Amino acid sequence: MLKDGLGRELTYLRISLTDKCNLRCRYCVPPCGVKLKEHKDILTLEETQRLVDIFTKLGVNKVRFTGGEPLVRKNAVGLIKNVSKLTNAPHIFITTNGVLLEDYIDYLCDASVKDINISLDTLDPSVFESITGSDSLSSVIEGIRSCLVRGINLKINTVPLKGINEDEIPALAGLARDNNLSVRFIELMPIGCAASYEGISNDEVKRRLIDVYGQGVKAEAEGGGPAEYMMFEGFRGKVGFISPISHSFCLQCNRLRLTCDGKLKLCLASLVSVDLKFLIRSGASDEDISATIIDAVKNKPSHHEFSSGVFDPGNSGMIGIGG
Ligand code: SAM
Repeated sequence: MLKDGLGRELTYLRISLTDKCNLRCRYCVPPCGVKLKEHKDILTLEETQRLVDIFTKLGVNKVRFTGGEPLVRKNAVGLIKNVSKLTNAPHIFITTNGVLLEDYIDYLCDASVKDINISLDTLDPSVFESITGSDSLSSVIEGIRSCLVRGINLKINTVPLKGINEDEIPALAGLARDNNLSVRFIELMPIGCAASYEGISNDEVKRRLIDVYGQGVKAEAEGGGPAEYMMFEGFRGKVGFISPISHSFCLQCNRLRLTCDGKLKLCLASLVSVDLKFLIRSGASDEDISATIIDAVKNKPSHHEFSSGVFDPGNSGMIGIGG
């Protein structure tokens, strides 16, 4: 079992498969775009699979594929299928913007994926275009339908932004009234270009939902994650709140991150990383890589530093790190 210096057990690995994305969400990608990593610097799918195998032998039991947009990575589903067949196969999750889901959903089901998070900040096509720079809202809605039809455990993740989509908070939560899925509101973190936008605290989001849907009751948390859940009367699904700013959950953090160029990050908001790709490409054995990981995680920061200002990852916003 991987443990950091505070005794936190690190059982959850988030893997960014690519820094490319088919959307340009304005709080995630700066207006000038991002400098993409060179192809030679991106972990191959085989290298990624090898690292997943090593991490699972060290006790990681949950792996989330994210990005960039994971589904734009060529043969991402092939990798996911291979990971699902590992001896210590982890529970596999995907976070996607949903645009390509319709094309890949059957392959993902075939790879035993049962849990998908779709990021969706608006139900209005013109607001969607203004946030993402794309007119593909209908593809995302199709993606949601395809997941529901196939019985995928679906979560919709929404980042409320002042003056942009805040008036849609009740309508977005309403997706959990009408469908068997969870809708989760995530507080905007001041990462790179996101610092030019104002988020809304989840206490405020809850107040607005209670005004529309009534008091609601606390609901059971899911999968050991940081979201708190509520159930409103007449809802089929839950509404969740992920509040890294107003109610930091760092003390319970069980996460590690692997960037698409093979850097192990111990905290979303830290510039410190360990270069696992360098180790792999210099011929290190699995034992050497395991020892490096065991040693590195001891230095996981105790908490993020968002309260002391903007976190600047150098290359833009969340997209440069892997969301
Ligand atoms: N392309 C995939 C997607 O859209 O789900 C995965 C990557 S995306 C960076 C993952 C999530 O990060 C999205 O839900 C996005 O809204 C969220 N995100 C990006 N920047 C953020 C920020 N500064 N604060 C909070 N969430 C952010």
